[in-house]
Amino acid sequence: MADCIFCKIAQKEIPSTLVYEDELVAAFKDLEPQAPFHALVIPKKHVESIAALKAEDKELAAHILCDVIPQIAEEQGLTEKGFRVVANTGEEGGQTVKHLHFHILGGRSMQWPPG
Ligand code: IMP
Repeated sequence: MADCIFCKIAQKEIPSTLVYEDELVAAFKDLEPQAPFHALVIPKKHVESIAALKAEDKELAAHILCDVIPQIAEEQGLTEKGFRVVANTGEEGGQTVKHLHFHILGGRSMQWPPG
């Protein structure tokens, strides 16, 4: 999508610090980290949010959740102690960038409930 910042990151029109990439997915460090490790995992194709996922996206969503996130967590040394995955969705969900992304936060103890 023309004006989408995460599409531009996926297409390397905007620089990012990549921590993972394959033909379908990119993951890069968040500009304003909220934990010692904070990355965003995105599908390269534009999908607005979890609420916009369609049946045809099942493999992509499963790839992100079953393959990519666990691999990044393992590579970053987060698997044993744990980490948090967040997908803010829509206005009340606190989503500010309208391109589906999963935050991976780790390296410190997390609190609950979130704000
Ligand atoms: P949201 O609030 O769940 O939509 O999260 C958007 C996230 O994108 C925030 O944590 C921002 O810090 C992050 N962000 C926005 N622009 C950029 C960028 O250009 N590079 C990396 N992270 C970004």
